[in-house]
Amino acid sequence: MPISDLTNQSETSKKWSVADSENLYAVNQWGAGYFNISERGEVQVVVQNDQQNNSVSLLDIINGMKERGLEMPTILRIENVLDQRIKELNEAFLRAIDAAQYKGKYRGVFPIKVNQQCHVIEEIADFGQRFNHGLEAGSKAELIIALSQLRDHNSLIICNGYKDAEFVDLGLYATQLGIRCFFVLETPTELPIILERSAALGIKPFIGARIKSSVIVDGHWNENSGDRSIFGLSTSALLDVVEQLKDAKMLDCLQLLHCHLGSQIPNIRNIRSGVLEACRFYTGLINEGAPMGYLDLGGGLAVDYEGARTNSTHSMNYQLDEYCVNIVETIAESLDPLQITHPTIITESGRATVAYSSLLVFNVLDVRNHEPQPLPQALEESAHETLHNLFSVDTDVNSTNFQECYNDALYYRDEIRELFRRGQVGLRDRALADNITLSVLDKIAKILKNIDRVPPELANLPELLCDIYYGNFSLFQSLPDIWAIDQVFPVMPIHRLDEQPTREAIIADITCDCDGKIDRFISPQGIRNTLPLHALNQGEEYYIGVFLVGAYQETLGDLHNLFGDTNVVSVKINADASFDFVREFQGDSIADVLSYVEYDPKQMLEQFRRTAEQAVRDKKINASQRQTMLRAFKDSLQGYTYFEREQH
Ligand SMILES: *Cc1c(COP(=O)(O)O)cnc(C)c1O
Repeated sequence: MPISDLTNQSETSKKWSVADSENLYAVNQWGAGYFNISERGEVQVVVQNDQQNNSVSLLDIINGMKERGLEMPTILRIENVLDQRIKELNEAFLRAIDAAQYKGKYRGVFPIKVNQQCHVIEEIADFGQRFNHGLEAGSKAELIIALSQLRDHNSLIICNGYKDAEFVDLGLYATQLGIRCFFVLETPTELPIILERSAALGIKPFIGARIKSSVIVDGHWNENSGDRSIFGLSTSALLDVVEQLKDAKMLDCLQLLHCHLGSQIPNIRNIRSGVLEACRFYTGLINEGAPMGYLDLGGGLAVDYEGARTNSTHSMNYQLDEYCVNIVETIAESLDPLQITHPTIITESGRATVAYSSLLVFNVLDVRNHEPQPLPQALEESAHETLHNLFSVDTDVNSTNFQECYNDALYYRDEIRELFRRGQVGLRDRALADNITLSVLDKIAKILKNIDRVPPELANLPELLCDIYYGNFSLFQSLPDIWAIDQVFPVMPIHRLDEQPTREAIIADITCDCDGKIDRFISPQGIRNTLPLHALNQGEEYYIGVFLVGAYQETLGDLHNLFGDTNVVSVKINADASFDFVREFQGDSIADVLSYVEYDPKQMLEQFRRTAEQAVRDKKINASQRQTMLRAFKDSLQGYTYFEREQH
């Protein structure tokens, strides 16, 4: 439905500016300085090079991709943004440590599960060296990634998750190589394996203990926090670990306390309580005789997806600096009275490190709107009586009788549908009834704009009448958390932002699954159910970006409808504001996704060849038609799984 109907006329008549788009899409709030809108009305990414800001329009990047044959949809990674996040995180901790005259160090580790993609980990390991930024591994595969990527021996490897003998051996070898690789105990039963392997290989392990915090975290992703957490040692299990280590005369290996409250913690108060409690456990272990030295506070540093700066689920009520100051001060204040040496502070920020650096871009393939077709002046005399009744509702509807007209229209429409089922009216009557009903609803929606108290029954009428923009992407592949946990991400067109968007829409993906849609959007007024978009221009692509998708989205994605991986492009912005495509990955071909589900593409081609050959023998097609078909089949197997525009 056109937005011009939704806002009052005096506002729409003044010229639309880029500033209006900034307000509408709240880009300066969620963009955190990395994204804004250029004077040309295009979203640009802003990065720092040698203290100066350089910006590059996303549309320029997309045009560069087009020239290289990289089609939509694409994940765009901005390498500089990833580097900048690591730098900002480390520098914020260093500032807080300096300000509080804290005696310990800070060591960040990146939890690999948050984005396992090779290029991301390589970049973190490479750029992170200057800050001794390490890696966190939750499985054997992730430990293998960490061991192969980490080049700096002052960085840490933290091993969480259940560890078998093979996992432990790998970690012990790392320790022997001089890497500080901690085994964090999730259960007391892991300890005997570690002690046994350590004795067998003659390598002393670094051991950490993960505790269950009793702090309940705000926000619905954190139902696992507090006593119900499925991870970590209960207090008595922690003491059991201490006893086992004492018996083995290896209590000196226990050097780290680990506490992860959960991801995306929107409220700074919860973080402070968590740190306070962790300090008590830390003190307790020192009193038990463990040397300690490391306090690992896990992840949880939030991302303000809404840009709202509140403690609601997709937001956060604190800034990075405040997070660091709170942690450093809380530790110092808890341990100083007990004269305990300040530990090295570790955090495992995943989301906050990588979310900003990736965005998904797709083109819009089609739009369906719910605008009624023009109605005839009058119905034919012979038309069904119910159609005549419905038609007069449309003629009569006004600002006093609209509620009654709403009920009448739906009543007559349903009656026509019933007659259709019984075979008493035909296809054209049914289509006409649907169209008249739409016309009535459209008129009512317009009336609702100008009244103060909308009847609850009609409140979501404008949403029912909004447009559907069909995007060339799979929600399940590229934005799984929208479907799985109702996550919201900033979504907006990346160009034409100097033009007023005139439509209200939801976005559907190409899976044809009714869950494959985006219908919750951020706005300065809070979450809303439709997004303002521009009407498509004939013969011109319309590009939409989904931002802050670098964390958790890329590997959780599944093969729903066999769309598979999208193209991925990594861009590095240079000091002169030019940019390079440092990496390009072709997304899955159809043959790729078929082989993931155990088909053999070669065999499939052979089977199709046999069918075609039989048809030649049966004289249904000739040999050259057979060739054309086989070529099309083969080309399709090699092609991109997403919608490809014809190349002329
Ligand atoms: C998932 C996870 C993290 C990452 O959390 P973020 O909120 O993304 O920073 C860190 N540590 C552990 C143990 C985790 O399971």
